[in-house]
Amino acid sequence: MAKIQMKTPLVEMDGDEMTRIIWQILKDELIYPFIDLKSEYYDLGLKYRDETGDQVTIDASNATKKYGVAVKCATITPNAARVEEYNLKEMYKSPNGTIRAMLDGTVFRTPIVVKGIEPTVRTWKKPLTIARHAYGDVYRNVEMKIDKPGKVTMTFTPDDGSEEQTVTVFDFKGPGIVQGQHNVDESISNFARSCFEYALSEKKDLWFASKDTISKKYDHRFKDIFNELYENEYKESFEKAGIVFFYTLIDDAVARIMKSEGGFIWACKNYDGDVMSDMISSAFGSLAMMTSVLVSPYGYYEYEAAHGTVQRHYYKHLAGEETSTNSVATIFAWTGALRKRGELDGISELMDFADALEKATLDTIESGKMTKDLALITTMENPTVLNTRDFILAIREELEKAIA
Ligand code: NAP
Ligand code: MG
Repeated sequence: MAKIQMKTPLVEMDGDEMTRIIWQILKDELIYPFIDLKSEYYDLGLKYRDETGDQVTIDASNATKKYGVAVKCATITPNAARVEEYNLKEMYKSPNGTIRAMLDGTVFRTPIVVKGIEPTVRTWKKPLTIARHAYGDVYRNVEMKIDKPGKVTMTFTPDDGSEEQTVTVFDFKGPGIVQGQHNVDESISNFARSCFEYALSEKKDLWFASKDTISKKYDHRFKDIFNELYENEYKESFEKAGIVFFYTLIDDAVARIMKSEGGFIWACKNYDGDVMSDMISSAFGSLAMMTSVLVSPYGYYEYEAAHGTVQRHYYKHLAGEETSTNSVATIFAWTGALRKRGELDGISELMDFADALEKATLDTIESGKMTKDLALITTMENPTVLNTRDFILAIREELEKAIA
């Protein structure tokens, strides 16, 4: 069979440890035999990041801006132990953080739903996508511990020398605590824009919630920015696509979600997204069964797995022991990127291939063949536990059957 041809290169960001091992097997077994892969390769493995003083991460982000679609392997975020282990020149920043800052994007995470791995919430039939606004609020706050009576105020001093504004936060009669938070319109707009763009790209409804009834200026600003953008720029395209933008209060959203079927995108403020994304991923199975895509407000897409480099399995692998590491999220990072590339370049074979590879992956699991992490949580009886490579080979077999 002739291999599928591509037009524009995919930006490929290689990574670290067990996921780097998976990356190579996956390309050899599931990509190269079927696609004449056009990719611009960036090695974000920690060793090469160190050799380039992390310039490679910046180059990879710029390439994503140039071509529009990237696929990324999980990477180590160095800490003190890693600096010693890899003899690093510096404790580099998280590559995901660098990429997100350069693309100004929002991360969307969606569970991969498969028969035999049932969500904890009975009514959830379709995956729920979470988008977290990753700027400001409590994550960029200032705090004070108060140890005696006194007044705390908040003052805005304009740069242009015009009149200051001061409000009293609290008049303390005894010890207590106080916190100051901020956000900026530009970041909120970019977040909203990424959410609207992604909802259109996925043809899914978009929900956003805050506590605007209590927080009449702070949370209300989020609500207003979403509403203004929707009314002025997205309403028509949403109506055309047959999807809905729905705003409600955060507590109402939580209550509705527990009774919903899923299948929509839930845009969350920073803290809500932090908490709710952990709830959703654990309720649906595991991080290894979760897709993750960074969407920039300018329409660049970077697909990755939601989990890390699975260090513990890598050390077993290095010691010559057998591993059973789940490659589903990494496979779906590739299919997501290939499908988007196909969509942007008008290559339907590429989109069909992405569908077929995802189906082959799920069919493999539903036929009872899976990695150890899934075998531990499946409702299926007597699953066959495969090692890292054999699971990918089983998917290839399933894929070849489907394509033939
Ligand atoms: P991790 O790699 O996500 O792994 C934590 C544990 O979760 C594993 O030990 C394993 O449990 C289980 N697990 C995760 N993914 C799995 C998979 N695909 N298949 C089977 N089991 C899986 O997190 P970590 O060990 O805390 O972090 C390792 C490195 O990854 C760190 O250096 C961190 O900086 C980096 N990291 C990168 C990203 C990213 O690039 N997106 C995200 C998070 C962390 P068992 O050991 O019980 O089998
Ligand atoms: Mg969290």
